[in-house]
Amino acid sequence: MDSQHRLLRVALPVPLPRLFDYLCDDAGPGDIGRCVRVPFGRGEKTGVVVALPETSDVAAGRLKPVIQVQREVAALPDDWLELVAFVSRYYHAPIGEVIALALPPGLRRADAVAAEDEDPFIDLTEQGEAALADRRRDSRSLRLLIQLREAGVQRRSQVRELPDGQAFAETLRRGWLGVVPAPERADAGASRSAPPLTVEQRAAVEAIAESDEGFACWLLQGVTGSGKTEVYLQLATAALARGEQVLMLVPEIALTPQLESRVAGRFPAASVVSLHSAQAEGARSRGFMHALEGRADIVLGTRLSVFTPLPRLGLILVDEEHDASYKQQEGVRYSARDVAVWRARQRQVPVVLGSATPSLESWQHARQGRYRALQLRLRARAEALPRVRCIDTRRLRLDEGLSPALLAALGDRLTRGEQSLVFLNRRGYAPVLSCPSCGWISHCPHCSANLVVHLADRRLRCHHCGCDAAIPHACPSCGNQDIQPFGRGTQRIEARLAELFPEARVLRIDRDSARTRRQWESLLARIAAGEADILVGTQMMAKGHDFPQLTLVGVIGADASLHAADFRAPERLFQQLMQVGGRAGRAHLPGEVLIQTEYPEHPLYRCLVGHDFDRFASSELDAREEAGFPPFSFQVMLRADAPRLDDALDFLRHAQRLAQAHPPDTLRVFDPVPMRMTRLARRERAQLLVEADARAPLQRFVTEWVELLRAQRIPRELRWQVDVDPLEV
Ligand code: ADP
Ligand code: ZN
Ligand code: ZN
Repeated sequence: MDSQHRLLRVALPVPLPRLFDYLCDDAGPGDIGRCVRVPFGRGEKTGVVVALPETSDVAAGRLKPVIQVQREVAALPDDWLELVAFVSRYYHAPIGEVIALALPPGLRRADAVAAEDEDPFIDLTEQGEAALADRRRDSRSLRLLIQLREAGVQRRSQVRELPDGQAFAETLRRGWLGVVPAPERADAGASRSAPPLTVEQRAAVEAIAESDEGFACWLLQGVTGSGKTEVYLQLATAALARGEQVLMLVPEIALTPQLESRVAGRFPAASVVSLHSAQAEGARSRGFMHALEGRADIVLGTRLSVFTPLPRLGLILVDEEHDASYKQQEGVRYSARDVAVWRARQRQVPVVLGSATPSLESWQHARQGRYRALQLRLRARAEALPRVRCIDTRRLRLDEGLSPALLAALGDRLTRGEQSLVFLNRRGYAPVLSCPSCGWISHCPHCSANLVVHLADRRLRCHHCGCDAAIPHACPSCGNQDIQPFGRGTQRIEARLAELFPEARVLRIDRDSARTRRQWESLLARIAAGEADILVGTQMMAKGHDFPQLTLVGVIGADASLHAADFRAPERLFQQLMQVGGRAGRAHLPGEVLIQTEYPEHPLYRCLVGHDFDRFASSELDAREEAGFPPFSFQVMLRADAPRLDDALDFLRHAQRLAQAHPPDTLRVFDPVPMRMTRLARRERAQLLVEADARAPLQRFVTEWVELLRAQRIPRELRWQVDVDPLEV
């Protein structure tokens, strides 16, 4: 009899910074880390057991018994519980919320993890494809098809778990879905063998492999095409050979199908699990369980997968470590890259942060010796880096924003049968509707954004809150019939290029044309097959893909980032242009990058022309140090939103007064300001910045401050959150 352990302390997914005690007659130490179903309020909730306390603060008569402890599946290990506790502390988020984020929702039901037998593969039939193509109706069945496509779902059980999964029977009856043969694994059997490493690659692999100090954080800075991925794969090979698990983080899995198949192709015998939030619940739960039980060898995933339990973890890889999508911008605002580094230290394993253009934070760490710097300066296949030039547009007549020099270069590529990319820096280019006679502009009725023109389906859409409307035939304000899209969106440039080069196949790549993973993959396949001559694209194109036929990148609208209010805008611009330039000339054709600008002498462009990240980083860091910006200071942002701006501001002013009552010496508390995008989905948003020269006192202060704030009475509709190390200021 184990009578002393009759209490379970449980973390529940509720926004309260506390744990909850329950009775459980047969509780034992093995229950720590297990999922448990408990009564909560008038309903039930699933949480995780974090301790077996001897006594409870709750009066014995008020303690309730658990409903069920889930003992059929492995318990979450202690280091996982420590990890979520750390994230809760560091980001000042209730532990239950962190657990709700880290744990796949499907894991709470035993059946979601049950055997995969008798679970056939399902896909759209021809009728289903046709129904999806003409999306005029809006039915539950149709929504299910869309969800299935977006989630890349394959199994019957996964289909049923989709939000509109109850329409499954209906879609079968209509003949839209049917059972299909199991798809062959992309590279089954055919292990693509590793190429011999270049001198620089070998030096990097050996440095990491030979360091036997457990934890170390390596910053692998390699120009695009230098073979960073090959370094990851070699390190992973060694880890797998030692029987260890590898965690590989990528910024956006929808953008990296090439990497996924490269990993699966290299390790055909290994169990590779992909994890990302667009996945169906069942698939995510199964992947998570595979990792937890030690059956998965490689976990490849987006920021969320940093929370995967890995009992045999031996190596963490973070690809494109500078990418902003590692930072979650809502709820628990964690940085997966930073959490990955913490986790590597916790588990005493090496972590490799790779990028052609490291974040200035990581680069500064390397400069100070806290991270170990490794460099790949040459391209793996001995190709030259692209030639980068600026086109001075100050005295030029532009045609829809396109300069004669860029048009001539595009024409050259067409005659040579090579591909070009026209890259739009979206910041500063708002394809909004305007009236030249009265100055009316298509504002969003719900937020402070402008509505963006979508010519294809003649709609106006808000890219912030998602609201949409038809394009009016005349100016709503003065009745003028001649209203024009103003600024240049991808669609407008696409249309103009099609007029100028009628023989060219122009392909637009943006969030609209590549909305789902499948659409994106089919676009990539068409580009690789040479089915397009001119690509028109935004940020999505800047990420690491190989387009062997691509030899020219034209950049439009870059200047807008030079004078932005955000101190990180130049860093982002440099990263994007360096990445996008890296798309040019990756096979045996030399690449060229043409940047249209009114500031051809700007140091940022001079560094780009010289492929000199180090000089750019040094000068940018000097400027940051001068201004006292991160990484030379540490920031925490308090954000509040409410239907009325005054409520948000009042709350922040009150928070400011609380902070000023006991500020540590090094703390700077700024005034609350309405955000640039003040209105978002009918709520008014404002923020308050707190800054310090050192992290520890700032964290101590924020912990106390958050406690004070939680104790305040606030208007019912007001919400607030703390953002530690904010990326957007
Ligand atoms: P990065 O991730 O640094 O941009 P990749 O790892 O994708 O670079 O490598 C760029 C290209 O060079 C890929 O096509 C890859 O197959 C090739 N490559 C990488 N390393 C080698 C090598 N050692 N020998 C030959 N080709 C290589
Ligand atoms: Zn809006
Ligand atoms: Zn008008």
